[in-house]
Amino acid sequence: MDNDRLVICRKCIEDFKSIPYTTPFQYRGLYTNFKVPDDNLCNICKEKLYITEVTKDEIKILYSISHDNSFLHEMIKLKETDPIEYQLKLSQFKNHVQQQKMAQEEQNTNRLKCPYCNSTNVRKIGSGERAMSVLGWGLLSKKINKSFKCNNCGGTF
Ligand SMILES: [Zn+2]
Ligand SMILES: [Zn+2]
Repeated sequence: MDNDRLVICRKCIEDFKSIPYTTPFQYRGLYTNFKVPDDNLCNICKEKLYITEVTKDEIKILYSISHDNSFLHEMIKLKETDPIEYQLKLSQFKNHVQQQKMAQEEQNTNRLKCPYCNSTNVRKIGSGERAMSVLGWGLLSKKINKSFKCNNCGGTF
């Protein structure tokens, strides 16, 4: 048996269609996190398990798009009926995941942290506010050369 292939129970994947994906992981007909039984029969309904064309790497990509059983089942069927269309969709999904990852990383690097309390709840101090601080405290104000204020601890930096 090919270990890289996703194994499913075709009965359970339909029966558990409406069960949302939750953590801790709940069995929904897909043997992604479960060991495939040696007798190749479903743990739950004892139907013969089905080895799909979908690889475990691919299922990770599919999972990052949706955990919906109907969607997964459609994609599993699509690989069998129209592998070209399947690959096309998969590469779109991959791009989507990649873009999301990049956007996330960009957000993380752009996100300033307060050097005092590590909070990311910081804002840029506007020029008006700086002018106010000059007026209020004169040139001694420490705020003058600082342009960010932490909304958490109130520190400026
Ligand atoms: Zn089953
Ligand atoms: Zn702070």
